[in-house]
Amino acid sequence: MTELRKMIQDLEKEIIEIRRALHQIPEIGLKEEKTSQWVAQYLEKIPGMEVTTGVAGTGVIGLLKTGTPGKTLLIRADMDALPVREDTGLSFASEHGDMMHACGHDGHMTMVLATARILSRIKERFTGAVKFMFQPAEEWPGGAKPMIDQGLLENPKPDYAVAGHLWPSLPQGTLGIKPGILMSAASMFTIKITGQGGHGAMPHLCVDALDTAGQVVNALQRVVSRKLNPLTPSVVTVGSFHAGSAPNTIPQEAVLKGTTRTFDRQVWQNYPELLEPVIKGVCDSMGASYEFSFDPGYPPLENDPEMVNLLKKTAAKVVPRDRIHEPEPTMGAEDMAFVLERIKGCYFFLGSGFEGCAPLHSPKFDFRESVLLTGVETFVRFTLDMLG
Ligand SMILES: [Zn+2]
Ligand SMILES: [Zn+2]
Repeated sequence: MTELRKMIQDLEKEIIEIRRALHQIPEIGLKEEKTSQWVAQYLEKIPGMEVTTGVAGTGVIGLLKTGTPGKTLLIRADMDALPVREDTGLSFASEHGDMMHACGHDGHMTMVLATARILSRIKERFTGAVKFMFQPAEEWPGGAKPMIDQGLLENPKPDYAVAGHLWPSLPQGTLGIKPGILMSAASMFTIKITGQGGHGAMPHLCVDALDTAGQVVNALQRVVSRKLNPLTPSVVTVGSFHAGSAPNTIPQEAVLKGTTRTFDRQVWQNYPELLEPVIKGVCDSMGASYEFSFDPGYPPLENDPEMVNLLKKTAAKVVPRDRIHEPEPTMGAEDMAFVLERIKGCYFFLGSGFEGCAPLHSPKFDFRESVLLTGVETFVRFTLDMLG
């Protein structure tokens, strides 16, 4: 066993303790108060670590300088949990009722904290600096962009960036690394349709907002199937439909909420102009009015091909070569995309799948903590390879 792997294995007990402590205190996006405090306190105990808190709310930055001139690598973790009631039965399950680390961000924080701890012990083996980014609200509305707006990528400006996500659809002990587009752009929209409410027995005296909204839901599906190039994978999903309160009453108002996905930057930008004429056409035909709001959200996440090759070389020192996969891109999204738009970098999947495991965002989601050691080793070795 290499000396580095032994050093990481010796930290295993602490790695598990960190993960379980963070798992117990999940907080949803922009409310990561206890979590960011925990992270900052851990970082402050690491010799030589400069810690900045309160970046874009709850964001935390740790800066580890070697004292030798060189490049800067940014390593990122996300801190937010989900509004999900945990159903794992774990002894260290969420203490926060309706909130849960169901997307593995407890694992991501743990890996980056342990990486910081290890790197501080071996900082004579590399040059430059490592910036550790702990961001709020990855799930939505995003914490990476607000942290960038508050100076994340200055003093020093990172030359490279890396981050990873626990990935249950890849088997544990594997890494998923892919050049180019890995994840989709994600936008959210809201449509408020206003008609003329009235008696359910007298539709001719009303403008039915519910019926109009139903037609809008159907018509929006024509955008992907009839307006976009079939070679451009895209999704329009209406995930929320609220209207009406009584079986014999025609509602005055209906509110739809949905999301759009695409790997194509141009389609991402064009979505509002693709959706709105459809909404307008349906509403006009029924005599209803509408308000349409569109939040562009996150761009597609694109990995730099050169960085991907370098990370693959590093990964081959961590796991056997046949355990490095090139995963298919996913329509899931990631606001790390904002960092990778500005800094050459790579986002990878850390396989965490096991027989019968639950998917991300499930109230039963869990992973074997041994995968965290693989993640730590990947981050530590990548730092040595990039800055060594
Ligand atoms: Zn998630
Ligand atoms: Zn996630």
